[in-house]
Amino acid sequence: MYCINCGVKLADTEKRCPLCGVTVFHPELDRPDSEPLYPPHRSPLPQVNSRSAQGVLTAAFLLPLLITLLCDLQINRRVTWSGFVIGALLVGYVIFVLPLWFRHPNPVIFVPCGFAAVGVYLLYIDLAVGGKWFLSFAFPVVGGIGLIVTAVVVLLRYLRRGRLYIFGGAAIALGAFMPLMEFLICVTFHRPRFVGWSLYPLIALVLLGGTLIFLAICRPARETMERKFFL
Ligand SMILES: [Zn+2]
Repeated sequence: MYCINCGVKLADTEKRCPLCGVTVFHPELDRPDSEPLYPPHRSPLPQVNSRSAQGVLTAAFLLPLLITLLCDLQINRRVTWSGFVIGALLVGYVIFVLPLWFRHPNPVIFVPCGFAAVGVYLLYIDLAVGGKWFLSFAFPVVGGIGLIVTAVVVLLRYLRRGRLYIFGGAAIALGAFMPLMEFLICVTFHRPRFVGWSLYPLIALVLLGGTLIFLAICRPARETMERKFFL
């Protein structure tokens, strides 16, 4: 007979292993019911009850929201500044807490949802302050960046390889978006002329994206980089 824990050879009469102290399993020996036959299993870490965590987080968002709304109604008799605070809280909730309600939150769904929430919030601000910059500026900028980020998330999720191509392509797309953004700023805010500051981020992002794609294509260069940066 051998100890089931440490493997030391045991005498038949032994009730406990002399070496490690574990109770010896011996079918003919009587033992109290409470005594386990095997060393206790190392139970997995107790899981945080995620439902209650989500409830607490939801309350943490709802409480300031209600307080803000009540203060605003008390002072101004209508929704004024509290609309901005509530909008920001709701955007934060959609981005950070809403995915927690799902067992396997799919970023392909939640990333565009987050951008949509930001877009709706900006539309609210635009309407509230009469800014008239939503359609010609905020919508295309949030939509464009949202599309690029969503494309990256979708490709990363459904393609197993080619991360360098994906990030390189995204950097170049973002760079190409910069002059368009400057153009939209000029048009929307009636800037006199197109200065061209957007060319600097454009050049930087195209260089970054080009480098990533070069590394993706050129295997020896990639291996050198990996060795250099201990990747
Ligand atoms: Zn033992």
